[in-house]
Amino acid sequence: MLLFQQLAAITEGSVVQFVQDHPVVHLLTDSRKLSQPVGSLFFAIRGKYNDGHKYLAQLYAQGVRQLVVEQGEPEAQKALYPEANILLVHNSLEALQKLAAWHRSQFHIPVIGITGSNGKTIVKEWLSQLLSPDEQIAKSPRSYNSQLGVPLSVWQLNQNHTLGIFEAGISQPGEMEKLRQVIQPTIGIFTNIGSAHDEGFTSRQQKVEEKLKLFKEVELLFYCSDHTLVHEAVQARNLHTFTWSRTQPADLTITATTTAGHKTIVVYTYQGQKQRLVIPFTDEASVENALHCLAVLLYRNLPLAEIQDRLDKLQPVAMRLEMKEAINDCYLIDDTYNNDLAGLAIALDLLASQPKRGGHTLILSDVLESGLPEEKLYEQVAGLVQAHGVERLIGIGKTLQAHAAKFGSMGTFYQSTYAFLEQFRPGQFHNEVILVKGARVFEFEKIVHAFQQKVHGTVLEVNLDALVHNLNYYRSKLAPDTKMMVMVKALAYGSGSFEVANLLQFHRVDYLAVAYVDEGVSLREHGITLPIMVMNPSPDSFVKLRHYNLEPEIYSLEILQALLDSAPATDPVKIHLKLDTGMHRLGFTAADFDALFILLHQNPQVQVASAFTHLAGADEALHNDFSLLQLATFRKLAAQVEERLGYKVIKHALNSAGIVRFPEHQLDMVRLGIGLYGVEATGSEQEALRPVSTLKTTVSQVKSIKQGETVGYSRKGIADTDKTIATIAIGYADGYDRRFSNGVGEVWIKGRRAPLIGNVCMDMCMVDVTGMDVKAGDEVTIFGPQLTLVELAGRIGTIPYELLTNVSARVKRVFFAE
Ligand SMILES: *Cc1c(COP(=O)(O)O)cnc(C)c1O
Repeated sequence: MLLFQQLAAITEGSVVQFVQDHPVVHLLTDSRKLSQPVGSLFFAIRGKYNDGHKYLAQLYAQGVRQLVVEQGEPEAQKALYPEANILLVHNSLEALQKLAAWHRSQFHIPVIGITGSNGKTIVKEWLSQLLSPDEQIAKSPRSYNSQLGVPLSVWQLNQNHTLGIFEAGISQPGEMEKLRQVIQPTIGIFTNIGSAHDEGFTSRQQKVEEKLKLFKEVELLFYCSDHTLVHEAVQARNLHTFTWSRTQPADLTITATTTAGHKTIVVYTYQGQKQRLVIPFTDEASVENALHCLAVLLYRNLPLAEIQDRLDKLQPVAMRLEMKEAINDCYLIDDTYNNDLAGLAIALDLLASQPKRGGHTLILSDVLESGLPEEKLYEQVAGLVQAHGVERLIGIGKTLQAHAAKFGSMGTFYQSTYAFLEQFRPGQFHNEVILVKGARVFEFEKIVHAFQQKVHGTVLEVNLDALVHNLNYYRSKLAPDTKMMVMVKALAYGSGSFEVANLLQFHRVDYLAVAYVDEGVSLREHGITLPIMVMNPSPDSFVKLRHYNLEPEIYSLEILQALLDSAPATDPVKIHLKLDTGMHRLGFTAADFDALFILLHQNPQVQVASAFTHLAGADEALHNDFSLLQLATFRKLAAQVEERLGYKVIKHALNSAGIVRFPEHQLDMVRLGIGLYGVEATGSEQEALRPVSTLKTTVSQVKSIKQGETVGYSRKGIADTDKTIATIAIGYADGYDRRFSNGVGEVWIKGRRAPLIGNVCMDMCMVDVTGMDVKAGDEVTIFGPQLTLVELAGRIGTIPYELLTNVSARVKRVFFAE
């Protein structure tokens, strides 16, 4: 077992305090993911947006006793954490990498390292499916391929593994050598080269060269020699290779690929023999990924029939973890594509980060691919489940059932998915957050289906990783002590308020703001504990507002008086004073101050938490002078507020556009809105944000019409030639603006734009798909990465805010993490 004092030599650090030895079992890099304090070693990492050292005290209080900290942290730490072992290193992330590299070097087994622009995760997952009959495999969970993810992946290796499969992803020069030292691959796979992360490199060539560094010491490199840049760079290095190609002689030469239904027939020549195999996919990317895997299987001399048998069982890999509403106010986290220990730990972290509501439930299948003896494996599973606070376990599968006793009284067990579904009654589940986590063979999608509410074909997909990216982008613009309020009014700009609020709470924003009391109440009922400001509180809702500990915006004497009348003078309440500096919507002006402060002095139970104003033209440079005037006026008025109150309040003025345009006026807090949802309102830094919402629907029917015929109401869509049109399942009642009618709007379908033809109807509309291969059931994107909100809003003379908030309540919101 690894002891704390060995870490100094391994990481080139120095032990500044040693109290006693603890096992080093869990490497912790995110304080929020602590589940087992004993045995955890925390690396305080300084990142672009955050600093792990800020969480030392909290982790120490939670029982963590092994800390890795960086230079520059004061001696004081010894006194602050008297019972902790403390290791001082030059750079915590590098120390983590060195420790993982040391761990890797303890195992003398083959390790496959995979890199390339696309397909890394799929090839890794498929190879591990394909090789699992012969090997005990340790692999990267999900897409853990970064400077942080790779060491955590490699740390899983244990005595029982016979093969490692790890992926490596980079975004700039210098990164790959570090990953190579951690993975120490003996076999390489270079999937392909494309545009991903081009911005980090001076040329494609440089990127290829950098990626190739992973394979410096491999015994064999698999790659497709049709990627010319890759091929030339590999040739120049004299590596031992296994090539495959569709166009030139190679170790494996693909002579034909033809699609037949949902399959692809591959004809190839290997070792002088012509053979034929079937791949259960047809899309280009899947075929390429499968061919990489085929090369590995052939090289391992597996019999052809066995290869075919294993290929037949390949399943698509869900790259993301979806969260969706389910029956009886339950909430589902759908993670049904594999079930290994590392993946389980990640999914449990996500479950633990959700508010408790009616409890946390886990539906779990037998755990596969662990490389551990069964007894030990289920001890660890039980430990994880308990450490993450799961209250109810539904175990499915014979092995899990055999170890039921390890889970105490929380578990109910079933032999098979079928046995569970037979006894499933919706009434057994209420208001719970349910993680559904099962290996592919258990077909847990049937369970997800049983839990799901009816889905209407149109969905708004919300990318939670993109939200976090955007949040961090704005955070990086703030001074360290500037607070952040995030606007989640209007269902979080249409994207679903509770889910977004929950994510913001997890990422520690300081305040939320909603428009109405009912929105705030709903957040509270979903377990949101952050302070919440309500911008349009109506007097008849004040009792509720106080009951739910919401904080009103107060913009007039009348509204303040109504608030005072809503409760006895002994009940304390926090308010936010809105000052009108030129927007002329709501707010006090200096003329109101005398009366305002008389009332406030008479009512000391009212505490002014903040004073704020709103800029009328922050999005346009044209109005900069006016904005600056507003800001100057605000500073003056806010100073008077503090002077007359006799205490400090939080002062804030900037919305999303203001944060970008007037960084020197952040004051104590900013109010982030549209930027979080992926629209940079000034337009100048749009590239830095990621799109968050994608509105999708499906094709209901495709038909051919003749020249001169018309489409839809009022016969507005006139076919000027023979046409193919597709009817799609979205209309103005879903929030799809009628102004998009007759060619003004376009949708994205099968990788191309298709213009609207005719008028938008209430529940559907028609698009022109002439010359395209479109059929009923195909997916259609209304807005998303390919058709931006900014472009679409421009076409109908409105703003992205309106398109986002118009998406009607009947459109289901689906949240996912990558
Ligand atoms: C909506 C709102 C914001 C956020 O504005 P964005 O332009 O979306 O960033 C800030 N402050 C107030 C008072 C708001 O009503």
